[in-house]
Amino acid sequence: MIQGDEATHRVSAPARPLSRLRFLERLMSIDQTFYGSDFGQLSSQDPEIAGVLLSELDRLRGGLQLIASENLTSPAVLAALGSTLSNKYAEGYPGRRYYGGCSEVDKAEMIGIARAKALFGADHANLQPHSGASANLAVYGAFCQPGDTILAMSLPHGGHLTHGSKVSFSGKWFNAVHYGVDKETEDIDYAQVATLARQHRPKLIVAGGSAIPRLIDFEFFRNLADEVGAIFWVDAAHFIGLVAGKAIPSPVPYADVVTFTTHKVLRGPRGGMLVCKEEHAAKLDKAVFPMMQGGPLMHCIAAKAVNLHECAQPAYEVYAKQVIANAQQLASSLGERGIRPITGGTDTHLSLHDLQGIGVTGKDAEARAGAAGIVLNKNAIPFDPQPPNTASGIRVGTPSVTTQGMGTDEMKLIADLIHQALTQTDGDPDNAKATEIRGQVTDLVGRFPAYPRSGS
Ligand code: PLP
Repeated sequence: MIQGDEATHRVSAPARPLSRLRFLERLMSIDQTFYGSDFGQLSSQDPEIAGVLLSELDRLRGGLQLIASENLTSPAVLAALGSTLSNKYAEGYPGRRYYGGCSEVDKAEMIGIARAKALFGADHANLQPHSGASANLAVYGAFCQPGDTILAMSLPHGGHLTHGSKVSFSGKWFNAVHYGVDKETEDIDYAQVATLARQHRPKLIVAGGSAIPRLIDFEFFRNLADEVGAIFWVDAAHFIGLVAGKAIPSPVPYADVVTFTTHKVLRGPRGGMLVCKEEHAAKLDKAVFPMMQGGPLMHCIAAKAVNLHECAQPAYEVYAKQVIANAQQLASSLGERGIRPITGGTDTHLSLHDLQGIGVTGKDAEARAGAAGIVLNKNAIPFDPQPPNTASGIRVGTPSVTTQGMGTDEMKLIADLIHQALTQTDGDPDNAKATEIRGQVTDLVGRFPAYPRSGS
């Protein structure tokens, strides 16, 4: 079934190579039919959903986005995501598909693989995981049997659900042993990691998580994995963008496999990816497809390739370093206002803050900040006395505001606005103080617009 104006959607395959003039003519006609007017098409066909897209853009533009795992991806990445590559079934890998008609998507995937290998200095890359959780599932599929033991960071201390939480497949199907942070330093308790590894001799040792503000000692983990005969896996979802921008050390030389999401600091489309040593390549590819997934999302793989090219540019290195400088400033400015950074600060794009000093829970903080136009999330802190859905902390991150062009001066202002929102408002957007802070937020984001309108 073809919907809409069939004639304007058809682009027939060229019988012979196009002249440059013809190519440009055709490009312009495609531009009008698919990319130039697609929002117009959507809004006339489905105003309800078009309205949601517009109001989400307003929401993004109108507030301060401090969720550490989010970013504002580029129009070029969004164009690839909204392309006809979404239509193509391409089970398998380039050159070995289970469907015909894969010549063009093969090119996109091969370009993406080459770019990932070059950017991360990896032997092998797989761009097909639909998400970070899918990439992680593939690691278990490649190296473990149900019931095997894995060693990972505990969720309440900064790990991730897919690292053995009981509510995830990883904790249901595998025997997860967890390490945590040291009570004094609040950083990974490396002595505990070593003790548990020697005691349990796990199949997999995992480093990485969702709320770890400090650099991880990959060499320590590598040596320990070798000592106990484990596979060393780094889940770099949060910080891989900083590695791509050469702002922090890379886990790739140390780990057997590195999985990550592509939509956090990296600033690509929503999705997952893995890079690994050559010796594990075939095993991991088979674990992604056909063990864990069906057809890859080829539009998303093309968008990942676009993003990897962006990350290889000098401007991205400047960005990655600024993300860290901003996170450090934000963490210390919040600390000066009694909102204590866990571990005393950060080496990365995020900081975790203990709110007990200002007598506010994480849940209330999230609501109070939200009412003032500041989007952040509640987060458990290590040894948290509150249950996870209340929590004593917040997590803040700088990927989005740095993409908008903000620097350390703006981080000082943001810390002040967060402090005011948390201590002087009540989570009601009509609260007079919340309205006043929202006005300051609007001024600030107006100077650094997300997705600026052309000409602004
Ligand atoms: N691993 C880590 C460390 C993460 O932080 C996340 C998501 O936040 C994931 C895996 C899962 O990624 P996704 O939400 O794409 O499944």
